[in-house]
Amino acid sequence: MRAGPLVVALLAATAVAIYASPLTDVLVWKLGSRGDGLGRGEGLDLTVSGTGIPGSVEAWGTPAPASLTRRQEQLLEFREENAFKDNLALFWLPNEWRAAMPPYVQSWLRNWIMVAILYYVLGGVWVYYTYYAFGSQLFKPGEIPSLGAQLEQMKVASISMPLYAMLPAFNEFAIEKGWTRTYSRVSDVGLPMYVVYFFTYMLSVEFFVYWAHRLLHEIKPGYKWLHYIHHKYNKEHTLSPFAGLAFHPIDGMLQACPYTFMLWFVPMHLLTHELLLFATGIWTNNIHDNIDGKVPPVMGAYYHTIHHTMYNKNYGHYFTFVDRLFGTLLTPEDYRAMIAERKVAKET
Ligand SMILES: [Zn+2]
Ligand SMILES: [Zn+2]
Repeated sequence: MRAGPLVVALLAATAVAIYASPLTDVLVWKLGSRGDGLGRGEGLDLTVSGTGIPGSVEAWGTPAPASLTRRQEQLLEFREENAFKDNLALFWLPNEWRAAMPPYVQSWLRNWIMVAILYYVLGGVWVYYTYYAFGSQLFKPGEIPSLGAQLEQMKVASISMPLYAMLPAFNEFAIEKGWTRTYSRVSDVGLPMYVVYFFTYMLSVEFFVYWAHRLLHEIKPGYKWLHYIHHKYNKEHTLSPFAGLAFHPIDGMLQACPYTFMLWFVPMHLLTHELLLFATGIWTNNIHDNIDGKVPPVMGAYYHTIHHTMYNKNYGHYFTFVDRLFGTLLTPEDYRAMIAERKVAKET
């Protein structure tokens, strides 16, 4: 019941990303040039051999000279978008401090703040509505996770968050350097190719998240030293949305890194990529809330609860098809039938 609106929200976010290109053109150029992009304009080297472009553009907040190649313009646009986000999230820091912070430190701090806000605000609202406001309708007595379990999950997640934030900070660094195949405007590739790249990227991410997760189970030290921390919550009623980021930091980064390394192989629109990271933050909260979420082929919360209780089933990220392909899918219907059979066998 909840996965349906979420899928709609994801599709809406994708549609927004498609149409956001002109919007970001307006917002980022205008607001970005007003913001000073503290610390991000220094040493901007746009030299590309053979172009004869001077080594740096000092007033980088103003529109780029017409003689820049499209790739050079993109590098400027990446920096402007990131400076725009810095200005939004780090406005409270004294200017001298920000000017002294390298861009990747600003990215890291901003990502840490944003992931913490998303986790606590969304998790808090989710927990309030599912367990407290509507808890008596959604759960039987005793099925709501204890406050102690939730607090412990918050502790694990909060310790890991500053380390998680290093991954998107690294993404931004690599994107600004021009190492990835990321592009800044939908018009760079055209709408049909935007859609093709989007699905290629998502299919690849789905595949590699599945395998990262499965290998964390199947390679014993990976499970014992890393993934076990997340599987400590292996009973249905110990899971809560706050378990969504309760991982060993290396485990969390390993499972998220397909979002990073696929940028080297598949051209991705920057804003869409960022919205996907945001959507993943919401998704990981959602699949740990214990509610009976099952809208195949979406890997809803019930599938993930089965993953926690059964250990070697349902490794997938958003969808069920990779588990189906590799024979690890256990649907809620089959799970319930299995439990009922076991009960009968025990009684006889
Ligand atoms: Zn697992
Ligand atoms: Zn989990």
